[in-house]
Amino acid sequence: MTQDRPFTVAIVGRPNVGKSTLFNRLIGKQIAIVDDTPGVTRDRREGQGRLGPLNFLVVDTAGFEDSYDDSLEARMRQQTERAIMEADVALMVIDARAGLTPMDEAFARLLRKGSTPVILLANKCEGKAGEPGLLEAYSLGLGDPVPFSAQHGIGLSELYDALEARAPQHAFDTYEDEEPEEDLPPPDEEAEVPDGDLLPDEPPRTLQMAIVGRPNAGKSTLVNQLLGEERMLTGPEAGITRDAIAIEWEYDGRPVRLVDTAGMRRKARIDKKLEQMSVQDTLRAIRYAHVVVLMLDAELGMDKQDLTIARMVEEEGRALVIAFNKWDAVADKDAALAGLNDRLETSLNQVKGVPVVTLSALKGRNLDRLMKAVFTVYETWNRRVPTGALNRWLGALTETHAPPLVRGRRLKLRYMTQIKTRPPTFAIWASVPEELPGSYMRYLVNSLRQDFDLPAVPVRVYLRKGR
Ligand code: GDP
Ligand code: GDP
Repeated sequence: MTQDRPFTVAIVGRPNVGKSTLFNRLIGKQIAIVDDTPGVTRDRREGQGRLGPLNFLVVDTAGFEDSYDDSLEARMRQQTERAIMEADVALMVIDARAGLTPMDEAFARLLRKGSTPVILLANKCEGKAGEPGLLEAYSLGLGDPVPFSAQHGIGLSELYDALEARAPQHAFDTYEDEEPEEDLPPPDEEAEVPDGDLLPDEPPRTLQMAIVGRPNAGKSTLVNQLLGEERMLTGPEAGITRDAIAIEWEYDGRPVRLVDTAGMRRKARIDKKLEQMSVQDTLRAIRYAHVVVLMLDAELGMDKQDLTIARMVEEEGRALVIAFNKWDAVADKDAALAGLNDRLETSLNQVKGVPVVTLSALKGRNLDRLMKAVFTVYETWNRRVPTGALNRWLGALTETHAPPLVRGRRLKLRYMTQIKTRPPTFAIWASVPEELPGSYMRYLVNSLRQDFDLPAVPVRVYLRKGR
């Protein structure tokens, strides 16, 4: 795809509808942090986007709203006109929670006049609050809106389907492509896939790790222990970007970036008010991380807030490790562990096999085990399962436990491939995907996790209508 003009997708819409959030989703957030140079006014951002096997250039028209003045509308109009002229597809974003505004309508008029195909995304559609806005969006005359949530990653497969239909062949990965770590070939090239051990993808990249948890769990103590006091005092400033703090670090010769931990921010800004870690802060830390260490005070155990954080980690597609801290102070260690395991088993069904490392941040005990667990789940998060093995597995599985009958005919699961790593994401081509019961889907995901040894990471399976 080197000599071809890249398939270009422009994100347009009024301020605050979620364009930047979508942009970050499409290009992968780690890039966004690095590129976010503070103080630089951009009127447009570009990045290499990817959805499944599809590669494209994303042009974001957000960011120039920072200086809000009279000329805003005029500048937005210009930007948008330019972006859609150059783009192959425009993604028009509206805020379904806020409903339509005159500005949305102005954008829609602009788009209707042009010849660029438009995909209308009704963003913020997680939950019920977006329903009225979603219905209103039909009136824009830009086709059926896709219910979407840039923040929660809802609607990505519909967006993929809409883009796929308009993308040129060279925008898709083939197995020979220069980036073998991301995607497997489309079904037809199945025979080319080497079938061997479940090896992690190389080369290793910088592992981004966040330490989250309730106040007082021991996060800053751990950061200090891991880095040494001196680094802690000098580190944060160096890593401050507009909305994240990161410390570059090395563990056992491997690069690690410690991102956006409440303890770090507190030290960095010397601001006591920031001691509470808000949900917003936690979510941001999770999004910047590959591996999230959820730190618990073992004397207190795991409560609802901690579970909420663990679920957020799953929803955001990150790998999870639990640090059971203050182990030195726990009197009844068996009871504490049993309580935690019980919690995990009954209330955290979405991710199974999360490693629990008992440790003492204060005394510097078991930190090696913690970091080992972090690298292990990172490897799992990057794991690639060969297509041949998947299809043999699918065949055997559907034989022992067949999918249900649909109107008297057996629902067929025809073909399976891993479309993405980080986290492991699979697609199954089915005869009538919409009819597959949720219970069967859960059975599939759980078996997949178990049989291919994918603990502690989200495992995603998408169904596609197949040949
Ligand atoms: P932009 O100005 O269009 O680039 O919008 P941003 O991406 O900066 O998002 C504006 C606000 O909407 C931010 O507070 C986001 O966190 C929030 N937001 C973005 N996407 C979603 C979503 O899917 N659901 C909800 N509830 N909020 C979102
Ligand atoms: P944060 O709010 O999560 O950053 O928590 P801190 O690192 O500030 O720790 C909160 C309190 O717990 C401090 O008084 C620490 O000394 C204490 N603490 C942290 N780790 C341990 C530990 O492993 N054992 C014990 N006994 N206390 C700890």
